[in-house]
Amino acid sequence: MAPDPVAIAFANTRSSSHRDRIATLTQWRTWIDAWPGFRTAGNAVDADGLLALRETRDDVQLLLHSATGGGRPAPGPTARLLALARSASSLDLRWQHGRPTLAALPDAPPAWVIAQHLTRAALDLLLTGPPLMACQGQDCLKLFITSRPDRRWCDTAVCGNRARVRAYNDRRQHGHATNLNQDGSTQ
Ligand SMILES: [Zn+2]
Repeated sequence: MAPDPVAIAFANTRSSSHRDRIATLTQWRTWIDAWPGFRTAGNAVDADGLLALRETRDDVQLLLHSATGGGRPAPGPTARLLALARSASSLDLRWQHGRPTLAALPDAPPAWVIAQHLTRAALDLLLTGPPLMACQGQDCLKLFITSRPDRRWCDTAVCGNRARVRAYNDRRQHGHATNLNQDGSTQ
């Protein structure tokens, strides 16, 4: 299976309302390490920069979710992303180990360059990419692209399994209550 586009991977770092996979600089550096082209700017991000990036990430996630049938997103996140996408770029390239990496021009915050780049990647995905789908797992905020219209979960071993367990427990509770009624039991 091909890896998700970076805009989806970025949005999916907020995997549920209570789980942020880039909540600390250590987590951020782990995430950025999987994208070698972002390492130069990514490793230069400081704590304030990460806070701003996480806000942009939440806006990107709302925007991408709006393309899964959820309707137009709230105006605030879209306006913030468009302002970021329209602003002049401070993008630079630096070669590391024979490959180009994203870098910031002097005096430009590295986090801002990454946020702008990922925002533009999200817009490009919306305008020219394949259809997006949202995981149907309870509390799951992840998005994915798929060639299978019947795919429901970001990961069948996680969200799919949780849903199966929940459905099993619901059936068991319901079946138990039905038996009590048929038996005429008052308990
Ligand atoms: Zn999921």
